[in-house]
Amino acid sequence: MAWEGSNRRHTLPKGWARTRRRIIRRDGGQCTATYSDGRRCELPGTDVDHVVPYSLGGSEDDQNLQLLCTWHHAQKSSSEGGTAAAHARVSVHRPKRVHPALEDE
Ligand SMILES: [Zn+2]
Repeated sequence: MAWEGSNRRHTLPKGWARTRRRIIRRDGGQCTATYSDGRRCELPGTDVDHVVPYSLGGSEDDQNLQLLCTWHHAQKSSSEGGTAAAHARVSVHRPKRVHPALEDE
């Protein structure tokens, strides 16, 4: 569970648990994301995602909801909120330093 920024916080609507179950059933319990070759992701869907983000005026209608696996949901969320992606980039950064003994020969 990853909460992005405090400014993106919103309370889930009433009846969300029921909506979530309905979407999981509708999408067959499988992630609905497709790869560039058209293949559908084969991972089990665990996260109900807003196609148009809630913060951008996306609705709670079934047409705006899709089932994603944790991985695809994380991919989508990090491309939506730039800060999460920037944070991930920082964590993989490894400083490269020449060992002092190898500087002068
Ligand atoms: Zn997936």
